[in-house]
Amino acid sequence: MRDLDQEMADRYRNNFLKEIEEQAEMGEWVKLCMQCGLCSGSCPTHFHDGWDHPPHEIFMLIRAGKRDEVLQAKGMWMCTSCYNCYVRCPRKVPVTHVMHGIAEYAYRIGRSPKGQSTQHLSTTFWNNCIQTGRVNELHLTQTLYFKDGFLAGLKKFIEMSRIGLGLARAGRMNPLEAIGAGHKCKDTQGIAAMLAKAKELEARRKEGKG
Ligand code: SF4
Ligand code: SF4
Repeated sequence: MRDLDQEMADRYRNNFLKEIEEQAEMGEWVKLCMQCGLCSGSCPTHFHDGWDHPPHEIFMLIRAGKRDEVLQAKGMWMCTSCYNCYVRCPRKVPVTHVMHGIAEYAYRIGRSPKGQSTQHLSTTFWNNCIQTGRVNELHLTQTLYFKDGFLAGLKKFIEMSRIGLGLARAGRMNPLEAIGAGHKCKDTQGIAAMLAKAKELEARRKEGKG
């Protein structure tokens, strides 16, 4: 993973903006930002401690070539996709999508912050979905609860057990999901074929042939 990061750093030496434009989904929009700050001012979550850089700062850092600071930023992972920034940007920059595109790129080359909760949730959700076409709620919850260790997980598990039981009784969560059983899509092969095609199209887009 580290090699891919180095390969990209070498390929785009001294031109981080170009790297983001070509490698991060929607990254080509960054250059249109005029630094008015409306996106960050409209963001309902950026006052939370988890944010290090709000959107307009991320875009400014990209243009300033601050590769390490951007790729390791927590800001992109704090975005809740409320779309406030997107609808208010006077330059019509799809801020939400650009933020997610940069986060995905940082993850892909192994530079994203380790142990960040949203990242953990996203990767667990994704890995789960590509296997069965459906999310395994119990597995997802378990991995989140036990992310910070067994005791912390057990405490959370007991705290939330009443809600878990309620979900199971209402048929919203299947206890068998704990051992990998439970609901899944009928056509898992179709899901796999669809994802393989999407991957192929994405690879072509990144090579500039799509
Ligand atoms: S609102 Fe748009 S133009 Fe203004 S800082 Fe944010 S992205 Fe840039
Ligand atoms: S979409 Fe994300 S970055 Fe934009 S305002 Fe909402 S939380 Fe903030």
